[in-house]
Amino acid sequence: MKSILEAIENNADTKAFAALQIPESYRAAVVRKDEQEMFTGVASADKDPRKSVHIQEVPVPQIAPDEALIAVMASSINFNTVWSSIFEPISTFSALTRLARESELAKRHDLPYHIMGSDASGVVLRVGSAVRNWKPGDRITVHCNHVDDQDPTSHNDSMLGSNQRIWGYETNFGGLADLSVVKANQLMPKPEHLSWEESAVNALCNSTSYRMLVSPNGAHMKQGDVVLIWGATGGIGAYATQYVLNGGGIPVGVVSSADKAEILRGMGVEAVIDRRAGNYQFWKDANTHDEKEWRRFGGDIRALVGEDPDIVFEHPGRSTFAASMYVAKKGGTVATCAATSGYMMEFDNRYFWMRLKKLVGSHFANYREAWEANRLISKGMIHPVLSQVFDLNQTGDAAYQVHKNMHEGKIGVLCMAPREGLGINNPEFREKVGEKNLRHFRRS
Ligand code: NAP
Repeated sequence: MKSILEAIENNADTKAFAALQIPESYRAAVVRKDEQEMFTGVASADKDPRKSVHIQEVPVPQIAPDEALIAVMASSINFNTVWSSIFEPISTFSALTRLARESELAKRHDLPYHIMGSDASGVVLRVGSAVRNWKPGDRITVHCNHVDDQDPTSHNDSMLGSNQRIWGYETNFGGLADLSVVKANQLMPKPEHLSWEESAVNALCNSTSYRMLVSPNGAHMKQGDVVLIWGATGGIGAYATQYVLNGGGIPVGVVSSADKAEILRGMGVEAVIDRRAGNYQFWKDANTHDEKEWRRFGGDIRALVGEDPDIVFEHPGRSTFAASMYVAKKGGTVATCAATSGYMMEFDNRYFWMRLKKLVGSHFANYREAWEANRLISKGMIHPVLSQVFDLNQTGDAAYQVHKNMHEGKIGVLCMAPREGLGINNPEFREKVGEKNLRHFRRS
């Protein structure tokens, strides 16, 4: 590992990287199959990733012809790290077992441990015999869409592929580790003006928000659209907010504290709703909606921007979904990619059909969309929303923060990178982009 790190820090050439010896094992953040029942009977909110996430040495897997072995300099915590580590809504080991049925090499994934992590920045160490566009020494980020390009169903929109998976969640060998195995068609160039940890936090959330809002596969936002964004300083919400501002839309950002409201204002969002201060009670009890509260919420949006949202960026799920469907403008679109507070949704269909609204289900992004989203980061038009940086050994603590909604933006995780701030190889462009734009979410 030491010689790999030296080669990375010295910007060694392809030949030098190809000559490096690959170690037999590496450090990884895992959950364990024999612990998948450990939280049985425990309430969701009390399931603690600090108990289930372990750091352990694992053997380096063989790579397939279409794969690359990468050195991971940094990774990030995503909400799927939380889902894996609390074994909800199901244990991810069932996904690994299903994947293992697909081919001889896929059997590698079915292990008693699951290496988590669906983001990474780093350097290519080895490529399989079928890889054409990447070589050892390339500095990369990784998007998490894991598709079989020999499957015909992947060839219109790869997110529709019958065996599309999320790397590091539904596959093994994820990014919260010192090394990782990825398909070559997950690789994207690392933005040159960013550090390893700034480069590592974007791909999953940024690409998801791009597809949900900008892509024709999502809400296809246009100039002037009013967009209601739940969790507007959270992982996906913070990128959504930037897309709305960038694309000439009018964001209405919902957050749950004065500090988060301040971050939004600093980004240039004028219409901000603090849901905690507003104390919206969309449910009277676990089974009864309160329509008056939907109206009150809609009234507050109108008071801020003078009209109803053309688009609602929805992901909290059960607690907010009915309100989202209600407040969307006549003919408007609700785009949803998640259900953090519960996935059994209910809404009043009268306000949906009579007002001719649309509901769009969205999930991550295809390679093209992820590439476009990464390009915008590289051009300094969308910025990382890194708030804190943890070490790989603290993955459980970092996942705990996200589970408990104690964070803003994204939490980065240093893997092979020995400290923050490394990996910037275009300081002139960084200066042009501006430190202020890169630090909106930083706590220190
Ligand atoms: P995050 O960083 O935790 O941010 C989510 C934000 O949503 C929180 O900061 C919180 O903001 C708000 N929120 C949480 N519970 C809420 C509730 N009951 N009512 C209203 N607002 C609530 O998580 P994330 O990375 O943005 O991910 C959000 C969800 O999307 C997760 O469920 C995740 O699994 C999912 N996701 C799906 C995909 C996909 O491809 N399908 C991709 C990425 C993420 P405030 O407290 O400030 O309001």
